[in-house]
Parts: sequence; structure tokens; C-alpha cells
Amino acid sequence: MSAIKLNTGLLMPLVGKGLWKVPRADAADTVYNAIKTGYRLFDGAGDYGNEKECGDGVARAIKDGLVKREELFITSKLWNTFHAKEHVPQLVKKQLADWQLEYFDLFLIHFPVSIAYVDPAVRYPPEWFVDGVSKVQLQNTPYQETWQAMEAIQEAGYAKSIGVSNVQGALLLDILKYAKKAPSVLQIEHHPYLTQQPLVDLCKELGIAITAYSSFGPTSFVELGMDKNTPSLLKHDVTAEISKATGKTPAQVLLRWATQRGIAVIPKSNDPNRLAQNLNSTDFELSTEQLKAISDLNIGLRFNNPVGVSPLLSIFA
Ligand code: NAD
Repeated sequence: MSAIKLNTGLLMPLVGKGLWKVPRADAADTVYNAIKTGYRLFDGAGDYGNEKECGDGVARAIKDGLVKREELFITSKLWNTFHAKEHVPQLVKKQLADWQLEYFDLFLIHFPVSIAYVDPAVRYPPEWFVDGVSKVQLQNTPYQETWQAMEAIQEAGYAKSIGVSNVQGALLLDILKYAKKAPSVLQIEHHPYLTQQPLVDLCKELGIAITAYSSFGPTSFVELGMDKNTPSLLKHDVTAEISKATGKTPAQVLLRWATQRGIAVIPKSNDPNRLAQNLNSTDFELSTEQLKAISDLNIGLRFNNPVGVSPLLSIFA
């Protein structure tokens, strides 16, 4: 399978499987079946609340001889409540224990937003609210402290590569002022309605690999009521036309638009047909015109913007 070489020398597969909103009851089987289908990269996070079950799926696949640990690329993320330097090692160890792993291939800071610590023994995952219901409480941890704690856990061997997510260019440039080495990966919302081309170009220049999330744009947000009534990219005329011309599904076209430009994708599906379809989306080429027609759909529309939702807005207001 095609891969991107990270600045740590590690190879990150171009296509992986996202684990957000995978119900705990299905997670072990979903991961196991995805490994059977050929997936090697899994994109998890403490916040997804399913890391133990995902770890069970991995453990079963290794035990059954489907795959070896070193053939897998497991990503996880540090949640916003754990940005203080003493919490970063505490959480990476907890998350590794949940996954039943000794190291992550990639560990990311989930959001550049630091909120008050919630003891995992009290509530895990803690989500955004300090009391589990309504009130977001910001915490005074500078991003530099969190990044340097990430470097320490990498040096201690808990993560082979470290990176960031949901970060814009200005913060990225600031990180470079104190980082020993540039983050290996930036994970961002990236789809034809939100191409973020200047940020993509900046990362290319800095040797930072990009992973796109929510590659199908509004589709992922329909079930959350956060799709802003946006027309589906999977049914868009431009996608449909290219799908017809290439003989590939609309989903494969949208994924290829990213991977052909060197951007990794981590689509989420629990359906066996879609899982296989998404994985087998790198064996064709889009023409320059087709790539441009898709990029031209950009309207700068972001669906995942937690700092813009009401409980946080009331704090920043
Ligand atoms: P996605 O773009 O992968 O879309 C998922 C939706 O598309 C689901 O409704 C699924 O049923 C549908 N779908 C999947 N394959 C399809 C196919 N072949 N044909 C038609 N429909 C299909 O959205 P996502 O889950 O938001 O993003 C992917 C992953 O990115 C997540 O699971 C998670 O791991 C990661 N993520 C990270 C962040 C972050 O803050 N870093 C935020 C969101 C998501």
C-alpha cells in the first residue's frame, strides 16, 4: 500500500480507518474486520471512548496471526483536559494500556485548546465539560508546555512520531520556534468544501505530512445535526461526473483527490463494502482538470469548529 515517509523516517499508510463515532459495542469487530480487509492504519483518540475495544480488535488480529504489531500504524490523540506537562505522560500510558500496546506510531495533540483537568477515575473520556454537563472551564496551559511534554514522551519511547491537529499556520510557525523538530503530522479537516490550500502548501514546505479528516465533508456531521444543510459531496454533480468518467465510486473519487496530492485519508465506515471501497482508492489517477474541478468546490466551509459552538462561545464572548 502507498505510504508517506514522515520526518521520523516512519512510513504512514496513505489510507487508514477513522474510529470516531464507532460504537464501543462494534469497535473490536470493526477493527478486526478492517485488519482482515487490509487496513493497517487506525486513527483513534482518547475522546472517542472506544480505545479499549479497538485494542481488543487489534489484540485478536495479532493473536490470530492476521498481522504483526510492527505492520500496524496506530494513531491516538491527547485530549484537551490533559495539556499540563504532568498529565501528558499519565494519559499516554493510560491510552497505551487501553490499546494493550507498548507504543503509538503517532500521538497527536487533539485541539490547541486547554481545558480544566478531569481525573480519569472520575469521568473518562471527559469531553468538553468540567461537570460532565454544561460548563467548559479553560485552563492556563500554554501550547509550548504541552508540545515539550509530547517531545518527552516521544523520547521515552511511548510514541514513535508526534504531531498536532486542528492547528492553523500561525500557531504552526510558533511551534517551530521551540520545537526540537517540526511535528511529523498535522491532522486537519480537509475536503473539497474546505481545501485549506495555503496551510497544505506551508506544511509541504516544512516537511510536515498532512492527514485529512472528514474527507466527505458534511456526511459525517449529518447524524450530529452539524452539517449546516450542505449538499452532499458524494452526490455533487462534479463528483458524479468524475465518478462516471473513471468508473470509481464518488467516495473513491473524493479520497483520491486527497491522496493523489500526497494527503493521507482516514475515512470512517463500519460497512464491509465501503471499508473495502475506501481502502482500494489509490489505484487510479485523476487528471489535472479533474483535480482542479474538485478543488474549485472550495467555499472555506468548516463543520468541526468546537471553539465556535455555544458553550465555548459564551466563555470567549
Ligand atoms: P468521514 O468523512 O470519514 O465520513 C464518515 C461518513 O461517511 C459516515 O457517515 C460513513 O457512513 C460515510 N461513508 C464512509 N465511507 C463511505 C462510502 N464509501 N460511501 C458512502 N458513504 C461513506 O468522516 P469522519 O469520521 O468525520 O472523519 C474520519 C476520521 O477522521 C474520524 O473517524 C476520526 O478518526 C478522524 N477525525 C479527527 C478529528 C480531529 O479533530 N483530529 C475530527 C474528526 C474526525
